This record gives sequence, C-alpha cells and structure tokens, in this order.
Amino acid sequence: MDTTNCDTSKIICLPEPGMPRIVVIGGGFAGLALAKELKNKKVQVVLLDKNNFHAFQPLLYQVATSALEPDSIVFPFRKQFNGFKNLVFRLAEVSEIQPLSNTVVTDKGAVSYDYLVLATGTTTNFFGMESVARNSLGMKGIRDALNIRHLMLQNLEQAAITCDGEERDALTNFVIVGGGPAGVEMAGALAEFRRYILPKDYPEYPSSTMEIYLVEALDELLGTMSDKASTKTLAYLRELEVNVLFNESVSGYDGSVVTTKSGKEIKAKNLIWTAGVQGQFPKGIAPDKVVKGNRLKTDPHLHVEGYGNIFAIGDIAALIGETTPKGHPQVAQVAIQQGRYLGRSLWATLHGKPTKPFSYKDKGSLATVGKRKAVADLGKFRFGGYPAWLLWSIVHLMSISGFRNRILVGLNWAASYFTYEKGNRLIIRNFSPPDQGPPKKSRTGNFGNHKEKVQ
Ligand SMILES: Cc1cc2nc3c(=O)[nH]c(=O)nc-3n(C[C@H](O)[C@H](O)[C@H](O)COP(=O)(O)OP(=O)(O)OC[C@H]3O[C@@H](n4cnc5c(N)ncnc54)[C@H](O)[C@@H]3O)c2cc1C
Repeated sequence: MDTTNCDTSKIICLPEPGMPRIVVIGGGFAGLALAKELKNKKVQVVLLDKNNFHAFQPLLYQVATSALEPDSIVFPFRKQFNGFKNLVFRLAEVSEIQPLSNTVVTDKGAVSYDYLVLATGTTTNFFGMESVARNSLGMKGIRDALNIRHLMLQNLEQAAITCDGEERDALTNFVIVGGGPAGVEMAGALAEFRRYILPKDYPEYPSSTMEIYLVEALDELLGTMSDKASTKTLAYLRELEVNVLFNESVSGYDGSVVTTKSGKEIKAKNLIWTAGVQGQFPKGIAPDKVVKGNRLKTDPHLHVEGYGNIFAIGDIAALIGETTPKGHPQVAQVAIQQGRYLGRSLWATLHGKPTKPFSYKDKGSLATVGKRKAVADLGKFRFGGYPAWLLWSIVHLMSISGFRNRILVGLNWAASYFTYEKGNRLIIRNFSPPDQGPPKKSRTGNFGNHKEKVQ
C-alpha cells in the first residue's frame, strides 16, 4: 500500500486504502479475532491500541506470583500481523469518537473510518472506594501483574529486615478481594508460593507468618460456575490453608489495614483487588447507550444501539436479550466469538448479503487453584482434580498467542511441575509502596498513585 495522506501532523499517517476502512480500537481477544477473520480481504483494517502488544489476561496471576516472565504472555501486534497485507497497526490511545464526521481522535492524531469497532475491554472497578483504589493493586494488565510481583517481593525482603513482629505480619499478609476465577487462581498460586518457595528463600521467618485471605461478598466462590465447582474450589483452597471469608466485603484500606463492612480489620501491606471490572471506552457515544457496568448496549448484530456503522465487541459490549438479561459474560470466549462473528458479518454486509444475529456457543468454564487442582464445567460434565487441571493447562497453552510464547510457558510449567519452582523472583524495578496523596488515573485507566521508578 502506498502512503499518500501524510499531509498534517494532526492526522495519523495511513496508507490510502481505495477500499472500505474498518477502524478497530483495542487488540484484545475481540479485536484480534476480528482482524484475523478479515486477514487479506479487500478491506483496510486499522488497529489502534494504546499498547503495542496483546496481553493474555488469564495468566496475569502467574506473572504476579513469579511463575512466568511477562514476555511469555504478551505478544507484539506487529509480529502478530506479519503477512496481514490489509492491516495497519498504530500505537495510539483513542480519546474521542466523533460519529458525525466518522472520525476518532487519538493522542497522536485523528483517523477517519467507514466502520468503527469498539473492542476496548474493561478496567478495574473499585466501586467508588477511593482509599481502596489508591492503596490496593488491580490485576487487569501486564503492568499491574508486575507491580504485584515487585511489591510482593519487596515486602518479603522488608519482612526479613524488620525486627518488629507486627510489621512483619503486615508485610507478609495478603488479602485478595473477589472469589471469581482471577481471585481464586491468585489465592491458590500465592498459597503454593508460601508452601514451596517461602521456606527455602526466606529462612529468616516461618512461612506460617504469611496469611492469605480471600474475601468474597457472596456465600460461594466462582459464582458463575456450578455448585460442584464452587465446593471443590473451596476445599482446594482450604487444603492450601487460604482463609476464605464469605459474605464479607472490603470497605476501606489505608495501605496497612484492610477494613471490612462487618468491622473486621486485617493487617496487610498487600491487597489485590479482583472484585470487579467496568467498561472503558472513549467519549463521544450517547450516554443512553451505556448500561450497567459501563458497557455499551448493542443490538443482536453488535451495532452500538442507534449507530449504523459503530459496533462493540468483547467485554465492552452488552447484548441484552431474553437469555442474556445482563449481557454475555465478560470472558475470552465471548470476545473471540464476537470478533469472528463481526469480521464475517462486516464482510457479508460489504457484499450486500444479509447477516444472522450473533449467537454465543458456550464451550464451558475452567478454573485452577494450583498444581493438579482445577475445576471444569463442560456442559453436563462437571469434574475436578488432575483431569481438569490437565485440560486447563492444555486449553491455556493452546490459546496463548505465538509459538515462542507457548514454548516458554510450556517449559516453565514443565519445570515447575517437577520442582515447584517459580523462577522469576526478580525485583527489576522499585515499586514504591502506595502513599496517601490524591488519586490519579494511571495508564491502565485504574485509579492509583503508585509510583514506579525504573532503575
Ligand atoms: C486477571 C484476569 C483473569 C482472567 N481469566 C480469564 C479466564 O481464565 N478465562 C476467560 O475466558 N476470561 C478470563 N478473563 C477475562 C478475559 O481476559 C476478558 O474477557 C477478555 O480479555 C476480553 O477481551 P476484550 O478484547 O473485550 O478486551 P481486552 O482483552 O481487555 O482488550 C482491550 C484492548 O483495548 C485496548 N484499549 C483500551 N482502551 C483503549 C483506548 N482508549 N485506545 C486504544 N486502545 C485501547 C487495550 O490496550 C487492550 O489491548 C480474565 C481477565 C482478567 C483481568
């Protein structure tokens, strides 16, 4: 493609397409699936993302707990799109959509579109609790996972330095909020860290010093899975000595003490928040299209309601119907299926063909709590233990982008299967403990004024 419209610094330079242009904001599971579906078709796909990589969020907890290096679960877009002759990637954060002029405004300049696809996903939702937003750590992106790893390792080091027993307890204690898959997986991984790594690496204090709490507002874990999965998961976590607190929600956190609604106080310098997400998208969409969870209401063809050429897919989309009164679950399979569907249906539309409404095929759910401990709900089949763990491992390995990444993750898992090792216990940069200043928006869109100092 030849580049002909580089005429102003306010416009992002793009090849002149001579064919319809589909601008996709966000290269997560949904955006990526759509781009793949349209590979080398006679349509220009412009992917805009604020990061230059796709992140495999389901394994963030393994980066956070030192089991995997960050590079093995992220994949650069430009490498991903080698051989995609009709795709243009631009590293840019979109701040505004201007539907009247079919333009999006980014931090680097404007881009015009014929069709616009919003695939911007979600950000952490602290439900307005500023003290929690300021002092806890979310787990939505690779930077979040690295922050958790650095804070955890720094605090464990500091626990070896201090002679104050109470201070040591707070430094080694972890509170994880949210009993969904992310919280459960994080709690299990930390408990394994405590069991197999802590006694070897930190002989200065007994591993029992580290208490792990999992706080869940409802009376069960993995609320979207079966009762069997929920009960089994609880048993696994209890076996790993995780304190699971049901019907309890966090109401405040000053960086050292977690306060719950029932008045409990837990001393902990590590609070990991997995209890909620909310949609994130640029301004410019009419407010009456925004529904619960800050998601965008779509029609069954995934148009944002009321917009003929703007679509929403993945976590940001809420297709509310009889069988999905709250929209589809915010999981990778929905995002992938919506991305593929929209790729096919846009192609059909461009050829004047009718399209069918989107329909989701639920392939089941999996969650792991630790080595050989997992649960699976696959239609009528509900099982746990080693078979579920093996299935979880295979499914996740095959879903990671890039052959190199699969090899890296596979090798790491194989090594840790036999040795219980978690080989990435490096503090590469200082992560300053949270302070008490006013909340700011971070790059990932979360609140928080955690200061990162690259060394
Ligand atoms: C810790 C964790 C564990 C999970 N575990 C599982 C699991 O085990 N199984 C499962 O099915 N699902 C899991 N999920 C959910 C799953 O990751 C999401 O459903 C999925 O990522 C949604 O895909 P998406 O494409 O809609 O959004 P995302 O994957 O979040 O991608 C959004 C993209 O948009 C970009 N972006 C956002 N705003 C802008 C902007 N303004 N300008 C430019 N770019 C922008 C972002 O950089 C990102 O690349 C997990 C999620 C988390 C956080």
